[in-house]
Amino acid sequence: MFKALLIEKDDSGQRVSLSELDESQLPDGDVTVRVACSTLNYKDALAITGKGPVVRRFPMVPGIDFAGVVEHSDNAAFRAGDKVVLNGWGVGEVHWGGLAELARVKAEWLIPLEPALTPAQAMSIGTAGYTAMLCVMALERHGVTPDSGEVLVTGAAGGVGSVAVAVLAKLGYHVVAVTGRPEEADYLTGLGAKRILPRSDFSEPGKPLGREQWAGAVDVAGGRVLANVCASMKYRGVVAACGLAGGMDFPATVAPFILRGVTLTGIDSVMCPPAERREAWRRLGQDLDPSVLDAMTNRIALEDVIDVSERLIAGAVRGRVIVPLSDL
Ligand code: NDP
Repeated sequence: MFKALLIEKDDSGQRVSLSELDESQLPDGDVTVRVACSTLNYKDALAITGKGPVVRRFPMVPGIDFAGVVEHSDNAAFRAGDKVVLNGWGVGEVHWGGLAELARVKAEWLIPLEPALTPAQAMSIGTAGYTAMLCVMALERHGVTPDSGEVLVTGAAGGVGSVAVAVLAKLGYHVVAVTGRPEEADYLTGLGAKRILPRSDFSEPGKPLGREQWAGAVDVAGGRVLANVCASMKYRGVVAACGLAGGMDFPATVAPFILRGVTLTGIDSVMCPPAERREAWRRLGQDLDPSVLDAMTNRIALEDVIDVSERLIAGAVRGRVIVPLSDL
């Protein structure tokens, strides 16, 4: 038997409970992993609160990521005892996920844990941090360097934002952090932000083109914030868009793209090809100072995940939330 969070749905609606499940109930897969640590990402919180249509098969164990140790493998790529990480691939959406003591998944979804990181550190980074690194790599791919000018990070006090600020600062970028929580200014400065701007500077309807300010941007908000970020990019600036914390819509004009050559690059962590995710994790082992992880990490028990999900959706959680599941 193993403990897991379970989301069930019937005509009366969705229920989430801490359950004792039998190993025989685990889904198909060639690798069984003893989960050391999982996390609570924005998407998990949407799934658990039912506020977003994340779960597409019921009953579902949520948790879009985990780090752990292989307990049994029918695939030559992994052996019992290997330390592994999983992000995305529909886990926690259509395949049982990481908020459980055991998970069974396909070998091709797993990557070896970066040797520089413990399972708990890897989950302090989690899908949020791995996505932040995909955003940084996208800016680099499009030619943004520390000499290009200031780089903006929206939703900076959240999970993706916190890691993006820390990585960009360590790489030498001049980071400007946008937050709706001015009380988190010291935290963001501690992560390496040089300047803090209020979210309200970006959340009202803006002009098609504003003053040219940012060489690069990592946006987790979408909506009006993303539209205003695009409108204030420097000539040939690059925006990596990965989130919808402020909305799914995009009330923008094409002016920044056709008049300033701005690039808007989309970031998806879920189906990202294996080579790029391995590179992102390698870079996280190299370009993120692990000492910043403590400041950005909240540890909670599996029992507390439901309550904390509500707070996370309300934008009231700083940084990352990890859920230790065993002492591996
Ligand atoms: P968090 O909840 O940790 O952070 C989101 C942050 O966004 C909040 O902390 C807040 O930061 C800011 N925010 C909240 N509400 C609004 C609003 N109405 N308008 C503008 N900003 C707002 O979530 P994550 O960092 O884990 O995820 C951020 C986004 O990225 C989510 O939409 C998530 O779904 C998406 N995501 C996408 C992935 C992909 O593969 N594309 C992978 C991972 C995440 P502050 O208080 O500092 O303003």
